Order: sequence, then C-alpha cells, then structure tokens
Amino acid sequence: MTSKLRVLKYGGSSLATTGHIERVAEQVARYRQTGQEVVVVASAMGGATSKLLSLAGEVSEDPSPRELDKLLATGESVSTTLLAMALRKLGVDAVSLDGAQSGIRTDERHFNASVLHVDTRRIRDELADGRVVVAAGFQGLGSAGELTTLGRGGSDTSAVVLAGALGAERCEICSDVDGVYSADPRVVPEASRIDAISFDEMIEMARHGASVLNPDAVTQARERGVEIYSRSTFEPEKPGTVIRAMRPAEPRVVGVAGHEELLTVTVTDMGTNPPAHELVEDLAPDDVFADHHDPRERCRHITVPAQRLPDPDAFAASVGSRLGGRVRVDTQCSSVSAIGFRVGTVDRFRDTSRLYTRKAGAGLQRSFAGDHSVTCVVHPHDAERVMNLFHQGFDCPMEKAA
Ligand code: ADP
Ligand code: ASP
Ligand code: MG
Repeated sequence: MTSKLRVLKYGGSSLATTGHIERVAEQVARYRQTGQEVVVVASAMGGATSKLLSLAGEVSEDPSPRELDKLLATGESVSTTLLAMALRKLGVDAVSLDGAQSGIRTDERHFNASVLHVDTRRIRDELADGRVVVAAGFQGLGSAGELTTLGRGGSDTSAVVLAGALGAERCEICSDVDGVYSADPRVVPEASRIDAISFDEMIEMARHGASVLNPDAVTQARERGVEIYSRSTFEPEKPGTVIRAMRPAEPRVVGVAGHEELLTVTVTDMGTNPPAHELVEDLAPDDVFADHHDPRERCRHITVPAQRLPDPDAFAASVGSRLGGRVRVDTQCSSVSAIGFRVGTVDRFRDTSRLYTRKAGAGLQRSFAGDHSVTCVVHPHDAERVMNLFHQGFDCPMEKAA
C-alpha cells in the first residue's frame, strides 16, 4: 500500500485509564488531520490482562486453553472499542476490529500462538473508506477457527505483522518509555537511550528479558523488513530508538537485560536425549530460554521464563507430579545477561560477567553464552545488584571488545 500509512501501537501503560485513551485519541486525530492513513494497534488497558489471568486462576487451577484465550482477548476488546468511541467523539471516523476481523491468522497453539498469515482485505477496505482502524493487539484466529492469543506482550507482534502486510515503511511502538535503553531504567537508573540497534541485538535483548519489545515481534520485523521505531506515547517529540538491519563493526556490549522470574526444570536420569519440549510435554520449543547438560551431575537444566506460562505455580506442580523423582522445579532463579554483537564469542566478556556476579556478592547458579549474549543465573534477591554491576562494569551502552 502507500508509504504514508502509519501503524501505531499503544501499550497498556499508555491506555491505563479512560483519560489516557482520550489523550491517545487526540494524538491519533492530529495525525489523521495531516492526511495520513492510520492503523492503531491497541493493547489491553494497563494491568487488565494480568487481572484476567488471576480471575481464571480463582475459578480453575487448570483452565481450558481455549476459554483462557477467549477471556484474555476481552482485554483488547475493551480498549479498542473505547478508543474507537473516543476518536468518533473527536469527529474522526474510526472502527475497532478484533484479531479475526483484522485478518491475523495463527497456528493453533493457545496462549503463545504464532502468526502464519495476514489477510489485509478488511483493513484495506476500511482505510479506503477513510476510516482509522483500531485493531486489537495480541489476538488472532487459529487455523482450527478458534480465537488464539500471541503470548505476553504480543500486541507488538500484531503491530509488526500488520505493518509488514500493509506495506507500511515502519511500525511505531509507543510506550511509557522513550525508546530502548541500555537496561531497564526502572532497575538501572544510569541506563541511557540507544539511538539505533540491530534486529539481531534487539531480539537478544528482548529474549533475555528487556520487556520494552516482544522478541517475536522483532523476529517478525527482521523477517518482513519492517523497521521498528520505539518511542514515548505522550512525549512524541523525543527521539526514540530505531531497530533496523545493521551490522556493527566489532563485538560490543549494547546493553544488559534480565528475567526476574525463571523456572528451572532439572531433569536427572535422562535416558535418551529428547528435545526439552518433549521431555517436559507442556512446553513448546520457543518457551525454552536455555537448555543445558551438566555432565558432572548427569542432569539437564531447562530454563523457562515464567511469563511464557499461564500459571507458573500450576506448571511447576504438574511437571513435578508427572515426572516424579526424575525432576526438580526451582522457581528461585533470575537471569542477568550482557547483550551485544558477538559478545558470547569473546572470552573476556564471558569471564568478566562471572567476575561481576561474584563482586556483587551473589551466588552464581549457572552461566552460559550464546553468540550475542552472556548470562548468569542468580537468586532473585541478587538480580538487581548484579544487573547494576554489569551495566557499570561493561560500560554500557557500547563497550567494544578491544
Ligand atoms: P507497554 O505497556 O507499552 O507494552 P511494557 O511495560 O511492555 O510497555 O514496556 C515498557 C517497559 O519496559 C518500560 O516501562 C521499562 O520499565 C521496561 N524495560 C525493560 N527493559 C527496557 C529497556 N532495555 N529499555 C527500555 N525499557 C525497558
Ligand atoms: N495485553 C497483552 C499483555 O498484557 C498483550 C500486550 O500488552 O501486548 O500481555
Ligand atoms: Mg509491552
């Protein structure tokens, strides 16, 4: 379609109250007045999805995945309809569409579905009729005809796939933070904003816990060639961060990230060596953050971010009771990672990450490296201290290897 199409995603913190929704509507109305076509992708109002999850937990320890997804999708029904109403009050012709109406087709996996295809016909028709489209993030239509959701933070993915399918030049992800920082500014006050970061580095930042963007969204953006522009909702004049294809010249640490809540499933007596998700049937390959053999202890550590699971406690209990003595589930784990181009291939970065962990007085449960990351697993009490020491020690955002 046209390059003047703007795809704007507003996160839950930007839509926390009806007052926020009205301010977002005013912003969208201003863009519309300059003749731009606008597709807004909205998350649920701040906190709504977590509240719905806990409601489900109150009535069932093991809710049906189908019903759970239908319940969670109501969060985005509320925000999109309210936003469309607020726009119409401002004289802007707007229509809210759910995931199925927006043409987002997914596989059948509930709670963490993957987008397979986008049928843009309805959205294109609405735009051609001069309307602003307010599309529900986080939800799609599974191949078996059931409603699915795309995993926590999945509205980012909805926005990216819609931007790609509609031919928008870039996708703007608007949030309560004015871009991607070298660490979560709530945890590391010295963190600084990064102007531009490569898709590969951002995927690693997000996969290692930088919740400002969803990792699947950045992977889809890389695949579809959609630049992401991460920026502040209510201070749109601030510069933000561009996420795009680029190749840094040399290894560097671009930032630090961490998962506050990880589950480590330790399996002994492994027999043959099946993939982690076959060993622990409730998991899909994408749920697994790390999978390590410990030859000395003759066991395997499978690490899963809690937010990949609808109910981490129920998961721990059910895995424990099914696999019996062969398995231990540990919930007292957090990770801290240094991320950047080829970081994991440089000995010095691997060694110093362990050094900083010890310097912070933290017990190191495990450490491991990927191409673009080095990670230490520590007790949650120590994570914030280790994170700050990593940030300071690695001289973020751009320590080079030399
Ligand atoms: P939204 O509701 O807009 O989807 P999120 O809560 O998902 O917002 O993401 C924004 C939050 O991400 C920020 O408030 C910030 O605390 C957190 N965050 C974590 N890591 C980073 C980072 N590296 N840069 C910026 N923000 C980060
Ligand atoms: N509302 C969903 C969540 O809280 C999706 C999102 O916000 O992107 O995870
Ligand atoms: Mg988010």
